[in-house]
Amino acid sequence: MTLNLLQKWELYYQEEILKDIENAGIEITLENIPLIIQGTSFKNRSKKYPDKCPYYQIGKSCHPEIKDLNCFLCACPNYNSEILEGECKIQGPKGKWFYHPSLPKGKIWDCSNCHINHSPKEVENYLREKLRKN
Ligand code: SF4
Repeated sequence: MTLNLLQKWELYYQEEILKDIENAGIEITLENIPLIIQGTSFKNRSKKYPDKCPYYQIGKSCHPEIKDLNCFLCACPNYNSEILEGECKIQGPKGKWFYHPSLPKGKIWDCSNCHINHSPKEVENYLREKLRKN
């Protein structure tokens, strides 16, 4: 299957953050959820991996209004990356279209104002659900 650009980025991001957690010696288990959350906070990742995100480099959060922003679900599980313009599977009310003529479809779904899945509590709930199923 050929992946589009959005899917490639999503896959890259997910592999990268899991690798970073592993390299920090943290096993992905239910018991380790607090450690995973601590390790993937914007605060900690921007110090440890300044080159991995432009926002880490400038030390400025992409969601300054979220207290304790967490980067684990930067690639939001509600984002539909199967189509080149993207979209929100749950129609998050804070998402919006960003238009630019150089984009493959002339527009792309922009989540920069959405808080869903970016707080420690939401990441915890997501991990609990996923890890219970495994
Ligand atoms: S609008 Fe919000 S919930 Fe929807 S994909 Fe974007 S970040 Fe996720």
